[in-house]
Amino acid sequence: METLSELICKHKQITPQNGELKGVCCLCGKTTTKGYKKKFGANMTKAVEISQGTVICPHCQPLIKLSNELRRSMWLITESEFHKFKKQEAKEVILNLPDKPFYLYLTNTWQQIGWLKMVNRVNYDKNSLICCCLDYDTYFIELETIKELFVLIESLRELKIPKTELENGKLSMHHYQKLETPRETAKQLKKYAGNPVWKLCVYLNE
Ligand SMILES: [Zn+2]
Repeated sequence: METLSELICKHKQITPQNGELKGVCCLCGKTTTKGYKKKFGANMTKAVEISQGTVICPHCQPLIKLSNELRRSMWLITESEFHKFKKQEAKEVILNLPDKPFYLYLTNTWQQIGWLKMVNRVNYDKNSLICCCLDYDTYFIELETIKELFVLIESLRELKIPKTELENGKLSMHHYQKLETPRETAKQLKKYAGNPVWKLCVYLNE
């Protein structure tokens, strides 16, 4: 399996150019003799993710220029595709993850450079714990859990329960009375409130 940087270069048809510096790449951690000086745009210089390492390797170097594209979309990358998508499509992508290694990046700010964290976050099997990044946060989640949460959220959204109530787990009396099994559901919501995976699932639903 290629690294994320190698895959992105391949899919974007970028031929990496060799630098002259020897060192450890601050993005992917690979040792290189063909690195470049660590030099980033203003929005990146403060990122702790790049504080380690001494150079940027030829494959990671082009990613710096692609940063705007990488931070302004969600994406799924495998050996054969670089699929960028918007929020409306995110659920479908997650529910149809490939049976081969993949990288999954999600965002709800559409501007943070959380993709920097993604470089070594490959998933080999969608049926084990999946690692995805949502901006700067890293999530390890089970697909089965996500599916269950989606079903619950869908049913509650159909009843027009607002997302804020789902997120904080506090139902107004008006909405509580709409529920089929109010006590049980309210209990579940209380349990999930504050859970980042729950929050992510609520966000990804309409
Ligand atoms: Zn690198």
